[in-house]
Amino acid sequence: MLDEMNRADSLHEACGVFGIYGHPRAADIVYYGLHALQHRGQESAGIAAVDRGQINVHKDMGLVTEVFANGSRDLAGNTAIGHVMYASQRSTVTEAQPLVFKYRGGTIALAQNGALVNAAQIRSRLEQQGSIFQTNSDTEVIAHLIARSKCDDLESALREALAVVKGAYALLVLSEDTLFACLDPNGLRPLALGKIGDSYCFASESCAFDLIEAEFIRHVKPGEMVVVSQSGLRSVEHSAAKPALCSFEFIYFARPDSNLIGAASVHQIRKQMGKQLALEEPVMADLVLGVPDSSLSAAIGYAEALQIPFEMGLVKNRYVGRTFIRPDQETRTRDVKLKLSVVQKVVEGRDVVMVDDSIIRGTTSQRIVRLLKDAGVKSVHVRICSPPVVYPCYYGIDISSRDELIVAQKTMDEIRQYIGADSLEFLSVEGMVTAISGSVDEHGLCLACFSGQYPTPIAES
Ligand code: SF4
Repeated sequence: MLDEMNRADSLHEACGVFGIYGHPRAADIVYYGLHALQHRGQESAGIAAVDRGQINVHKDMGLVTEVFANGSRDLAGNTAIGHVMYASQRSTVTEAQPLVFKYRGGTIALAQNGALVNAAQIRSRLEQQGSIFQTNSDTEVIAHLIARSKCDDLESALREALAVVKGAYALLVLSEDTLFACLDPNGLRPLALGKIGDSYCFASESCAFDLIEAEFIRHVKPGEMVVVSQSGLRSVEHSAAKPALCSFEFIYFARPDSNLIGAASVHQIRKQMGKQLALEEPVMADLVLGVPDSSLSAAIGYAEALQIPFEMGLVKNRYVGRTFIRPDQETRTRDVKLKLSVVQKVVEGRDVVMVDDSIIRGTTSQRIVRLLKDAGVKSVHVRICSPPVVYPCYYGIDISSRDELIVAQKTMDEIRQYIGADSLEFLSVEGMVTAISGSVDEHGLCLACFSGQYPTPIAES
């Protein structure tokens, strides 16, 4: 799937978070951390830093470089958290995070990746009791629960709030003197712990540590709350359940140079998924190409396994601004051409395997196949490096209905015909789990959008 090529046909991750405790250039470090996490959200960015007991925040709509142009990242203070967000069209700067709240215990800033399945119910109950919400954000629900707690200290109030909410969250909470990093009981979203000098830091993905030259220590565990203060770092278990890290992190969301669990990089795992796909669904062709960027690793694996040349048959234009593609643009085919070019000399007259990471609505695959055929490709065999997505996600990925999913609406042959491919096959669920868990010590995965087996109750959503 080509990132952002067509919003209606792409999966979107909710967010990326980064936080650091006790560093003289805290906000600057967070700025670079957010840079590395920009792929997780391009709609808004923000940083909150605590300076002499006061929390200051700067946030706006736009990319990290846009929001923090002209030195606006120079927030004073030695502890800070930051956030990048992909959000729905309803979102405004009010929803941009970190969210900052004053309550009877002081001031707190919160940054969250993920979505709660019972946020609407909690919000409705609190509203009936008189609460006034400023945003549509699930994160504000957590803030309200903290503020209404009868506990005297923030740590207890936060634990109480986390016992009420259900769903996915990698949550950073900043107070005047403490940084909390919390993961939901299933660990649906990734969160890594690192260290730069004497300062502990947290990031949605370990690739953010490489940029700031921080040492990766470990991943935050499902149901864990890590507390960092002047007394050092403490780990507290706030709740526990079967681990279920989102498998789409491996398929699409995470950066190839990140390490989500275990020792292998996401690139290595994607390559293994490509090899597994070749084992399950081989096809002999002149060359293999991947849809840039997220499918390239899998395409290399597929090509290696079948000893077919891997070629750069599709090239992504990295310099098309987000605003350049407008909804009212004349033709959708031109949208694709703006973002993606075919290297005609490479593909013309050849039989090609096109490896892509997933199919959601099928429109993007259809357009890419058409581009290839228009460039004179003899046959296009589409191989999808994930199982068919049949069920919606309730944990922060914007597939809200089965009606949006082509696999839930058409037979495999109808999909093949719709996208114009000469053949179409998917990786099996078992094959994907083997490819991932072989590299990551049998860590549990969320497979709900493939199987319909959700790791949390969803009746409340
Ligand atoms: S339902 Fe799918 S996209 Fe959502 S968290 Fe689970 S694996 Fe990830």
